[in-house]
Amino acid sequence: MVQDGARLPLEQLATASPETLGLLMLKTDRYAIRLDGRTQLAAVSDALLDGAATARSLQQRFPGSGPREIARELQVPVVAADDDPLVASIWRFAEYRSRPPHIVLYTRGIAPLEQVLVDDLAKRFLGRATTRDVFIAHELYHHAEAIRSAVPIARRYCATLLKLGKWQWRTGIATLAEIAAGSFSQTLLDLPCYPKVLEHVTRLPRR
Ligand SMILES: [Zn+2]
Repeated sequence: MVQDGARLPLEQLATASPETLGLLMLKTDRYAIRLDGRTQLAAVSDALLDGAATARSLQQRFPGSGPREIARELQVPVVAADDDPLVASIWRFAEYRSRPPHIVLYTRGIAPLEQVLVDDLAKRFLGRATTRDVFIAHELYHHAEAIRSAVPIARRYCATLLKLGKWQWRTGIATLAEIAAGSFSQTLLDLPCYPKVLEHVTRLPRR
């Protein structure tokens, strides 16, 4: 399910910087760990900047609009699915599908967070946003990335898997797109915490 940062106390996660949390995410990527420490830092920083810049450009294009309105303007329907959120040890909250473009919210995946994130905790972790806003915004980044011409953030840094003479087999770092999507969501919604933290709040005692 969620491993990155899972062993850290929630208080420590809640106050951690996006850079720290991004690096924790990167450390769970089987290819990213082949990058040296300096390149990992640069990759996280680039991903965070890209997410924030993409959010700001959509804010300029659709002033005052929330993620649902932006999705509507971009003709990306948001649909709710009641499917089992757990697939092959991955807990699904939401997903972007490109053909045709739409965002799927896994209502049973999000429900445990919605039950915990109320009142003061909602204010602390979400500010004025809702849990669903966070996930719609995250998937909007994947849409924005899919339709633009720039090299995807996941392919801007590559790890070498195999070298044979002149030949190299290299792969991109998929986690960088997830780090950027978190930064996009945080910027678009002015969230008090980097949203990766939300995946850990269900460790809090239920009220
Ligand atoms: Zn994602």
